Amino acid sequence: MLKQSYFRPEIDAMTGYTPGEQPKIANIIKLNTNENPYPPAPAVNEIIKKFVPEKLRLYPDPTCTTLRRAAAELCKLETNNIIAANGSDDILTIIFRCFTDVTRPVACLEPTYSLYPVLAKIQGTECLNIDLTADFQLPNNLLEQARTANLLIITRPNAPTGNSFPLTNIEQICAKFKGVVLIDEAYADFASDSCVELVNRFDNVIVSRTLSKSYSLAGARVGLAMANEKLITGMMKVKDSYNVNALSQAIATAALQDQSYLKSITNKIIVTRERLSASLKQLGFTVIPSAANFVFAAPPDNNGKQYFDQLREQAIIVRYFPGKITGRFVRITVGTNEQIDRLLSFTVSLFGR
Ligand SMILES: *Cc1c(COP(=O)(O)O)cnc(C)c1O
Repeated sequence: MLKQSYFRPEIDAMTGYTPGEQPKIANIIKLNTNENPYPPAPAVNEIIKKFVPEKLRLYPDPTCTTLRRAAAELCKLETNNIIAANGSDDILTIIFRCFTDVTRPVACLEPTYSLYPVLAKIQGTECLNIDLTADFQLPNNLLEQARTANLLIITRPNAPTGNSFPLTNIEQICAKFKGVVLIDEAYADFASDSCVELVNRFDNVIVSRTLSKSYSLAGARVGLAMANEKLITGMMKVKDSYNVNALSQAIATAALQDQSYLKSITNKIIVTRERLSASLKQLGFTVIPSAANFVFAAPPDNNGKQYFDQLREQAIIVRYFPGKITGRFVRITVGTNEQIDRLLSFTVSLFGR
């Protein structure tokens, strides 16, 4: 024990973020952290094979120019509308440091990605939770509830619920909200639309993306954010100088440049997702319509924890979120067809008639 705490009271008062576990057991079916079951684009393999270790002697490009140029081309934006980071979590840290403090609260949805309140605590800022409706949609009085916030985070598609929100609602929110609106699009490549285009129309909108899920690069740690040039310039002042390592910059650039591979793996995941959703519904599950690479579903007896434990005994690892609203559900990452078949056949043995 320390004689006294040397920490800021905010840090003492918080429990850290709990990442989804990365179990070391062999032969498990790992469907708990929304990783992609397919390998990264073949071009990534080439980059790694040809990468000269000598390059690691030097610091990487601090502004990720080549990577940002590739991203800009994809989004039909300019390079100075884009910032790159060490995963989208690093983008979030930069945004919290830029736009929140003790007098500038953040507003986020409930339930949503549980890292946001943790970042709020570290920053010493108040986090206003905006409860979603019973079917996990945006409440009508969202703007009223977020009134005092300087940062509003809308996760679209949302996690862990998987559903999206109507684009017209988002546009109205961006037009009326007085602070910065962050639209976290970690799962947008699995959805039918995106908010990237709003960056051209509103000077208070940031759209963030990650290469962890759709591009199958969770281990490389690359995230991007798109916004008005003024917002990006400010965010550049706050980021660590060399926040994306040299190998990851090269890998991410190659991955972005192979859109046909991206389409092929995301389409496979979408087909499997729809089959999983339909099969669970047939077994009496409540299934939230998913626009992401996971399905949020409650078993017929609404005992999410028991179903989670039963799957675990079969070495099928999904994610469980305790709590009044989320506790009857489990979140299942969409894996390969074989993995989902294993999950489904065991689920039939539990709930089939
Ligand atoms: C996975 C996820 C992130 C973080 O992605 P990384 O790039 O791996 O840090 C951010 N936001 C949401 C909603 C996510 O699900």
